[in-house]
Amino acid sequence: MFAQPLIDGMDFARNGRELHGEISIKSLLRLGDMLAKSDGSLAYVVRGLRVSDRYMLEVALSGVCHLRCHRCLGEIEYPVGITTRLQLVSAEKMDEIDANDDEMECIEASSQIDVLALVEDELILGLPFAPKHPEGTCSPDIEGLQQPASAFSVLANLKKKY
Ligand SMILES: [Zn+2]
Repeated sequence: MFAQPLIDGMDFARNGRELHGEISIKSLLRLGDMLAKSDGSLAYVVRGLRVSDRYMLEVALSGVCHLRCHRCLGEIEYPVGITTRLQLVSAEKMDEIDANDDEMECIEASSQIDVLALVEDELILGLPFAPKHPEGTCSPDIEGLQQPASAFSVLANLKKKY
């Protein structure tokens, strides 16, 4: 079992704290249909830091996800290497910042940040929206079955789910 770690954002940033852990891909329920299979786990590091007068959390993720190809629905072994910095801001400031999205990503400076939810958010943002095998390398079995159906009907079927 994996614990559900909570961290105090500002305390982390002020004191340069670090948390290392591993997260089971099975527990990342929001990935859902993006995955061909939910084997394995990802390593994460959450690090607090201060850059000039900004307090931040840096979230780094590494490992392998088995994504589903949007062309043949086969499996793609996708190496994950994501590092994101999130600026800690007060709850009141969060409302103001919402509009200008060219700014750095922000997170509410809560004293109880759910690390696993944070890791899941950053993973979802960091993964490709519609992953595909490189051109010409899709699974031939599945492609054969699809013919003469076009890629459009595959897409249409995918869309029906949403
Ligand atoms: Zn494919």
